[in-house]
Amino acid sequence: MRRPPGKMKKEYRHFEGFIIDIEGVLIKGQSVIEPAPAVIRTLNELNKKIVYLSNISDLTRAEVSEKLNKLGLDIHQDQILTSAYATLLFLKEEWPGKKNVLLIGTDSFREELTDGGINVVESSNDADTVVVGLDPELNYNKIGEAVKAIKNGSLFVASNLAKIKLTGDGYITGPGFVVKGLEYVTGKEAVLVGKPDKFMFTLALNKLGLIPHKILTIGDKLEQDIYGGNMVGTRTCLVLSGASTESDVSQQPEDRKPDYIMEDISGLFPQLFF
Ligand SMILES: [Mg+2]
Repeated sequence: MRRPPGKMKKEYRHFEGFIIDIEGVLIKGQSVIEPAPAVIRTLNELNKKIVYLSNISDLTRAEVSEKLNKLGLDIHQDQILTSAYATLLFLKEEWPGKKNVLLIGTDSFREELTDGGINVVESSNDADTVVVGLDPELNYNKIGEAVKAIKNGSLFVASNLAKIKLTGDGYITGPGFVVKGLEYVTGKEAVLVGKPDKFMFTLALNKLGLIPHKILTIGDKLEQDIYGGNMVGTRTCLVLSGASTESDVSQQPEDRKPDYIMEDISGLFPQLFF
């Protein structure tokens, strides 16, 4: 016989939708944070609406879903909003005239853009937009083309401003390094799309189709997940399984303080795991 779904902790029961960060909440690099798969399974059994909101820019949503599925997390690509995919939506919604992107990013980022009808160009002469994501193969020529395009008036978009990205055994430098370098050289400021920008959180709200106070945003970074979730009016929950610690909370301004704090995401269903 199928077991009944677990009972959610009382203070969280009234939430109908969840905005859940991936890195630091469900996974760390290439490993799953236990018992995240069982928590997600239980949320699914309770028919809660979930959007997975991540600043990932080097993978397609399909690749993120595949990676999570392999780790035992039952998450469909349609539930995932990455900063790469959000960049595509940002261009289409806010700048419909911009169609030729000089991309600092991976082949997967390129695929998200081209699948959405955006051309990815190689030369600054052909570009009307420069987009920056994580690009482990970035070279000096590409940086030079991006500088020329921005100086020539291209729209300058940062998919996210991450300083580092966790890998299996450490970290690599994030796209924030490249964005700040381009800003320094060109004197132009990039438009941010990823967390904590309102654009990405508004996409998540629209996808859930719920009023904000029926939604709980769960994340591991005060300055991204908690600030963004607070800004759009959701309730927010910091998990201590990733970047921010409990002692960081007291040093933050009010708009970066969470409504709830839990050790890890299993705090939603404590009786299932203790
Ligand atoms: Mg995170």
